Amino acid sequence: MKIGLKIKYTKNLPAILPFLKILTKKLDYFELGVRPGENYQEYNQLLSDKIFATIHAPFVENNVNLVTPESNDLNHQGIELAKSAADFFLASAIIFHPGDQATENSSLENLFQLFQKYNDGRFLIENTPRIYKDTPYQKLGVSINELLLIKEKTKANFCLDFSHALLESAIEKREYYSYVEELIKKLDPHYFHLSGCNNQKTDRHWRILHPKNFIDYQKILPFLPKDALLTLETRFVDENNNFDQRIFEDIEFLKNLD
Ligand SMILES: [Zn+2]
Repeated sequence: MKIGLKIKYTKNLPAILPFLKILTKKLDYFELGVRPGENYQEYNQLLSDKIFATIHAPFVENNVNLVTPESNDLNHQGIELAKSAADFFLASAIIFHPGDQATENSSLENLFQLFQKYNDGRFLIENTPRIYKDTPYQKLGVSINELLLIKEKTKANFCLDFSHALLESAIEKREYYSYVEELIKKLDPHYFHLSGCNNQKTDRHWRILHPKNFIDYQKILPFLPKDALLTLETRFVDENNNFDQRIFEDIEFLKNLD
């Protein structure tokens, strides 16, 4: 297994760079959030021959909504931006969210057509929960059957986000660990997002050792493939660009799972 850390914004770099040496020692890769208006090449400061990069594409937060045809101009721009970042960093994975049912024309068909047009073997589609507390629209590409259909129609691989799965399992009234086991058996992911969360319709991005985290990653370990890429997706830099060194405890915890 390999362990990575998601960096969401280039604006977090000043907080991260003082800790880069120790992060590079402990991690295998960084997942780099790419978005319009930021210069993704600034992430180059993080990378060396010891550490590789994967890319998280822009999503609804950046008005990229792959299921909604009215968003297709911005969808193409977002996809192109993510692809050019992946080319620049030689990334083997680009993670996308399906998107929101923002108009009556929103459908998975729009996502199929976009992905079929690009036909890029680096594309991964991530599970998202049907509803978040503070957002106006439901999401599409949510159920296991929809995710299977996306995989079949687009050949995109699957990225399993354990906190998103927790929120969706609560909505579907499913027992969490059997739900995760079914997701892994049916969708065969090798790329994962890990954070701490509870089941209250909000994506918390807590550290995985947070005392209120519902997810016991020890229980999930037996379902994981040997070559899993485990990406920590916790908030370790706050709004004032303070670095929370407890991220190192999460990394140690994952190393000891192995
Ligand atoms: Zn995620």
